[in-house]
Formats: sequence, structure tokens, C-alpha cells
Amino acid sequence: MQEPFPFSAPPRWQHTLGKPVSCTGVGLHTGAAVHLGLSPAAADTGLVFVRKDSSDKEARIALHPGAVCQTRRGTSISNAKGQSLATTEHLLAALTACGVDNAVVEVSGPEIPAMDGSARAFVDLLGEAALVRQNTPRRYIEVRKAITCRDGERWVRLAPSTTPKISARIDYPDTLIGDQSYDFAVTAAGFITDIAPARTFALAHEIKSLKEAGLALGGTLDNCILVDGMTMQNEDALRFTDEFVRHKILDILGDMALAGAPVWGHFTSNCAGHALNNALIRTLMDDPEAWQWHQIEN
Ligand SMILES: [Zn+2]
Repeated sequence: MQEPFPFSAPPRWQHTLGKPVSCTGVGLHTGAAVHLGLSPAAADTGLVFVRKDSSDKEARIALHPGAVCQTRRGTSISNAKGQSLATTEHLLAALTACGVDNAVVEVSGPEIPAMDGSARAFVDLLGEAALVRQNTPRRYIEVRKAITCRDGERWVRLAPSTTPKISARIDYPDTLIGDQSYDFAVTAAGFITDIAPARTFALAHEIKSLKEAGLALGGTLDNCILVDGMTMQNEDALRFTDEFVRHKILDILGDMALAGAPVWGHFTSNCAGHALNNALIRTLMDDPEAWQWHQIEN
């Protein structure tokens, strides 16, 4: 049987899916039932999204830093036609970390389905599709100088690195989460075992205000860890003792995909979220001295 993810190091060549795959689920914030389809695409297509419930079923939402239109509790993207799609980050993390360069993502509603709150179901879908190599070199965005975006005590930073990696810290005092840090060397194998299973989380006292803001309407204990002080309301155990910060790495991987190509650098996050992640990617791409195209040569 063909290996579904045929590499352990950052790949030299572009890859797409071996066949179309699909699943259904419910959006975490909208509560909408959604059908999600992933299809192969030609080299240099990139990852593109299509809203199949729209009157213009051919219009695509492409990935670029300016496509981000909302960053509260998730990353929403939109196109010039006003079509938008919420909670893209977990699927994008799975696609980019597993090495998918080119795919068409068709969605029948306003939000990517939450599945179990992690990226595990998306990794399973990609495994079912199996990746195929395309005869076009993959182009990385190589970080050439360190850049930082800050909001008070929260900050994110991208710096040059010989290998792609992500370091994250979160701090939720007086809760089960506490102060957690994690360093991740970005590989498909590492992502599948160490990052993809980490679920999203919320604090119990936030739920009322989130729902009043029209968020978390599809949130349940089946797709979110609900933390109430020093306890959690879910009956199943944590998948890792530091599952929360691992999920933060998952979110960062998804938000980095908005650069439009894999970013080769060291991303560090201190208590930051989607808004700062996107600000950093925008700052990077707007500064011609901060990055350059890079291909892996043999
Ligand atoms: Zn998340």
C-alpha cells in the first residue's frame, strides 16, 4: 500500500490529493451542518476554497494574508465577492503540515466543520486521499530577518531558522491550563502524532458572552474542552497533559497558511491569538527584505 504521507522532512516537490474525499460535520461557531469536500488540484493552484451554497458556485476564496476578515476565536477568510468562510485554521493546519500544496476545498455552508475540535479527522481524510507528488518544485517563503508584532504583553515573532519550527506559550492563571510551553519542529509525522489530536478549548465563564456575540453556537463537549477553573467539564481525559498549548501550535500552523505558501522560519508566540498571527504574516509579506522564495535542492 502506498504511504499516505510520503515524507518526514520538508518536501522538495509539490503534492496534491490522490483522490477526492469528503466528510460532514457542524460548524463550531455557526452551528451549521456542513459538507466538506477536498479534491486534487493542478500544481501551483494553491489551497482554494469554494462555497457550494453560494449563487456563484465557481468563485474561489484564495489564500493570501489580506483574505482574513475576522479573527475572533477563529480565522475567517473572504473574497472580493463577499463570500466568506469561518474557522479555517484546523483544516489549513492539516493540509499544510501534511504537505498538501494544491487542493480545492468545497464547503456547503459558512464554516469548516469542527469535527472533534482538533485536526485529527482532517488528517484521516488526507490519509484516505493519499498524497501524490507533482513534478513542480515546492516554493517556501524563507524568513530573512526577524519581525515582531505586539499587543501589550502578547507578542508573536518570526525569525530565520535552518528548519521550520514553532514555539508557543500560553498562560491561563488559576485554571487547569496554567502556564504551558511547547516547541515543535514542523514535520508531517510530528504533526500527526503530537499536534493534530489537540482539541480547541474554552473557559466556562466565557460561554455566555461568546453565544451572545453569535459565537460557539455549535460548541459541545464533543468538539471543545470546556475548562471551569481547576477542572474540565468533559468526561473524557485530556489527550496530552499540555493539550492546550499543542492546540495553540495547531492554530498557528493554520494561520501561517494564509501566507499562501509554506513559511520556512521560527515562529514564536507568547500568549497570542489569531489576530496577531495574521498581523505577523501580513507584516512579513509586506516587507520585501523580510523574506525570499526558497526551493530545496538536492
Ligand atoms: Zn483552534
